[in-house]
Amino acid sequence: MVRLILFGAPGAGKGTQAAALSGQLQVPHISTGDILRSAVANQTSLGLQAQNYLDRGQLVPDDLVIALIRERLSQSDAQTGWILDGFPRTIPQAEALNQLLRDMAQQIDRVINLEVPELVLVDRMLSRGRQDDTEAVIRNRLQEYHQKTAPLINFYRDRDQLITVNGNAEVPEVTTSILRCLEQPHRLPG
Ligand code: AMP
Repeated sequence: MVRLILFGAPGAGKGTQAAALSGQLQVPHISTGDILRSAVANQTSLGLQAQNYLDRGQLVPDDLVIALIRERLSQSDAQTGWILDGFPRTIPQAEALNQLLRDMAQQIDRVINLEVPELVLVDRMLSRGRQDDTEAVIRNRLQEYHQKTAPLINFYRDRDQLITVNGNAEVPEVTTSILRCLEQPHRLPG
């Protein structure tokens, strides 16, 4: 059982790694981006509220994603662990997650920060060709990341929960590095 947050800029490989790790560790891969895209495709009320933000590469309002994650983490398959991909993305989301986990008497085991140089991020996003991977939208997503999401690095570092992994390597190599972090007893900085 493991409760893991995969953290990183858009294009860092969170989704790819979460999918691989989910199979190996037998815990659900929970991607707020995937849930939101499917809500948009199905035109649910969540999808209708989120669509404009996704199209523009802006973060969906905190209250919507916090409600979504509260619902998802309460489901039965999430009681024995999970890998979060793309959540939390703001300090209020991280605080809401901590509160939610306190209420459920659960805790985060690791926050893995996948580090990838910015030029590589842009190349990767342009080559995967998702609908929100056009140049203008990518620029917005990177800006949102730097303004609202990157501060979480210090948030989790201050709580001794962050481990940084080099994400600029072949996919299986990155998976191996992450698995190695999970085997080790938690390393304190310094
Ligand atoms: P992703 O697939 O993680 O790159 O997410 C795609 C898009 O979904 C983002 O650009 C945001 O518009 C939205 N999104 C996903 N997760 C979150 C989140 N935790 N907070 C706000 N917006 C999110």
